Amino acid sequence: MKVKSFFFAAFLTVFLIGCNSNEQKKANQLNSVSSSKKIKIDEAKLLNNLKTLASDAFEGRGFSKPGNYKAQQFIANEFKKLELATPIENGYIQEFTTTYKGARRQRMFPVKGKERNDINVPDTTVVGGNVISMIKGKSDKVIVITGHHDHLGIRNGKIYNGADDDASGTAAVIAIAEYFKGKNPNHTLVFATVDAEEAGMNGSAYLVKNFPLGKENIVLNINMDMISRNDKNELYACGLFHYPKLKAPLTKVKSSITLMSGHDDPNDKKLDNWTNSSDHRSFHKEKIPFIYFGVEDHKDYHKDTDTFENVDQEFYVEAVKLIIQTVENYDTYLKTN
Ligand SMILES: [Zn+2]
Repeated sequence: MKVKSFFFAAFLTVFLIGCNSNEQKKANQLNSVSSSKKIKIDEAKLLNNLKTLASDAFEGRGFSKPGNYKAQQFIANEFKKLELATPIENGYIQEFTTTYKGARRQRMFPVKGKERNDINVPDTTVVGGNVISMIKGKSDKVIVITGHHDHLGIRNGKIYNGADDDASGTAAVIAIAEYFKGKNPNHTLVFATVDAEEAGMNGSAYLVKNFPLGKENIVLNINMDMISRNDKNELYACGLFHYPKLKAPLTKVKSSITLMSGHDDPNDKKLDNWTNSSDHRSFHKEKIPFIYFGVEDHKDYHKDTDTFENVDQEFYVEAVKLIIQTVENYDTYLKTN
């Protein structure tokens, strides 16, 4: 906080001592920070899934690379162990292809050698896969919960583990699915770890356009991308600028994390706009409301140091519990007819 003068600072200090600091109303703070609501999840499993996906064995989960396919199989197997239903015909993986041409091809999947350049490089078509499970609700209206399992892969011999980005969202999708199993929600809940976010959000774009339960039935996307660490103990719920009616369920969460709104207003000069920064973009483009949960960038963002060791385990577990509360709240709040 920037303070204009010593006198104002002194006044503020007196003022703050005079009231409970938890009661401070920041302009875009959504919840009043409290002890967390009792949400029962398998915390050890959540952390272990994050650790596994971010381990070197998955080679940074680069789009269309062996480590990425391995991640898809791992997630599908988790869904299978939970005996979750799937809206996909054969198993949990929704395959799609993407063709890269010219400069984009050379940037994403370079062909080395002097004789190849942006103009003459041949097209390449690669196969991706979203991993999808579901819990049938009382209604056909759907809330889609997403995180992306791909990351940057191996670059210049270094593994980019992508623990926060976005093994954190991916392991959260699995944990949230497990939490809602057997709970008979009002909405049908679809759990999707999407592919190729880092390569242009192709996985989520494909999912929305080819939504197995009908795109018109989706009432909300909850997207999680980077939810496992923040020095200020803050998590952002981005999207209210576009969908202000989604605010009330967020204000009811009981959490030790400060839930903030913002990063969605194109006119805001202070906070950069995250409206198009992750897979919720694919839903927003189709006018489907979204809430995106994420933290502000940190020093390990898109670096090979975004590893499990740098995750704040306590923050992460609490963030997942907070997001579960919002899914419960939206399931009650949003109409199913
Ligand atoms: Zn990401």
